[in-house]
Amino acid sequence: MGGLRIPELFRVRAIAREVLDPLPAYSGLSCGVLAERIVYFGLARYGWLVRVVEELLPWADRVAPKFVEALFRRTVYPVFCGGATVKEALHRLRGELPSSVELMVDYAHEHAVDGRMAEANCDRIRRLVARVPEGSPIRHYALKLSGIIPTSVLVHQSAYLRGRRARPHPQWHRYVDLATALAEFIIERNLTLHVDAEESWVQDAIHHLAMEWVFRWNREGARVYTTFQMYRRDHLGWLERAISDCRARGCVLGVKLVRGAYVQKEQAYARREGVASVLYDTKEEVDRAYHRGVVMCLESVPVVQLCVASHNPVTVVFCLGLAEVNDHVRSYMWFAHLLGMADPLTWWVARYGLRVAKFVPIGEVRAVLPYLMRRLEENSGIHQQMGRELSWYVYAWKKRCGV
Ligand SMILES: Cc1cc2nc3c(=O)[nH]c(=O)nc-3n(C[C@H](O)[C@H](O)[C@H](O)COP(=O)(O)OP(=O)(O)OC[C@H]3O[C@@H](n4cnc5c(N)ncnc54)[C@H](O)[C@@H]3O)c2cc1C
Repeated sequence: MGGLRIPELFRVRAIAREVLDPLPAYSGLSCGVLAERIVYFGLARYGWLVRVVEELLPWADRVAPKFVEALFRRTVYPVFCGGATVKEALHRLRGELPSSVELMVDYAHEHAVDGRMAEANCDRIRRLVARVPEGSPIRHYALKLSGIIPTSVLVHQSAYLRGRRARPHPQWHRYVDLATALAEFIIERNLTLHVDAEESWVQDAIHHLAMEWVFRWNREGARVYTTFQMYRRDHLGWLERAISDCRARGCVLGVKLVRGAYVQKEQAYARREGVASVLYDTKEEVDRAYHRGVVMCLESVPVVQLCVASHNPVTVVFCLGLAEVNDHVRSYMWFAHLLGMADPLTWWVARYGLRVAKFVPIGEVRAVLPYLMRRLEENSGIHQQMGRELSWYVYAWKKRCGV
């Protein structure tokens, strides 16, 4: 592994034994809350049930919107979302997480379909960011560009960047100006900006714009992070190129490393369009690529600041092991987990003295319904972490509640 030292196997095993103990993280949860979580995570494991809910939701929402809202507010909303406002989220999360845990917020909004909606979403994000109090644990903002640039524009511009369109989208520069003004506002408020990665047919344009911001604002450190999806065959190459571009320009590359959230959509797209999927064929290949990405980033410090955005315990143990024997990488690597997920890993990463953030969506129940459905969907797959989360809650319940 190039310039990195490899931890001894016995140390990795010891870290794994500690990190997989969920009890400290759940010590603040009552037996009632543990039981509730067992029910949600247990039900969400059934993919067919999640699909039925997804199918019925639009109809139920038309017939009985108040009931749907109340149901979500009472069940999954408090698990995965901070609240309707920054104030509510800060109030709710006070004491729920270790004090060193930072927060990454995101305003849950619909995809922008036209200029008016894009501007309205920008205004909402500005209002949210303006309400973040100085000195609060909120240090990061996660931005989904499809919320402020219409998908049709992103699709066209991505095709142009791949040489499949002769000209840029006529509206591209208008939206770039809108998005750049928003990015500047977020950075001026001393928040680190994380640009989310999205579907492959819009990602070229997103990555291109995010890299422009990296070159512009990351002279002194990583103020902007761009996201690399390790489930894509081409993203290790993108990562390598971005590192070398940043090295040549004397700036820091903020990397948020994820596996990728759109497996089903990408597979369906490839089938529909009759093209090869951009994804690896197996989870094992994705895991290998992820760990190669981690090593590539850590071998490139100080040019790279790495945010390990993963709930996979093997990945987290691998990274903690590397940090333990490579002291020089400790301040260049930190972790991010979604609210309501991987709480034991969050707790242990903080305990190991590394930076860790919780991703907290903010918005009214109605606005975050698509996000909540995505969480349930993502968690209902076989490889995914639903079984892991469930087993942690069951273990804690058995130990703490005497069953
Ligand atoms: C803080 C944070 C921010 C995130 N931001 C983004 C983002 O901007 N963009 C984004 O796309 N995702 C994002 N994600 C989601 C992320 O990509 C994963 O979907 C999620 O974290 C689960 O992966 P994992 O590494 O935690 O663990 P695991 O549970 O080990 O991995 C599950 C993942 O493996 C991959 N996988 C599983 N089976 C297959 C298969 N057959 N073929 C190909 N791949 C497969 C998928 O990516 C799946 O999500 C974010 C996650 C976190 C925690």
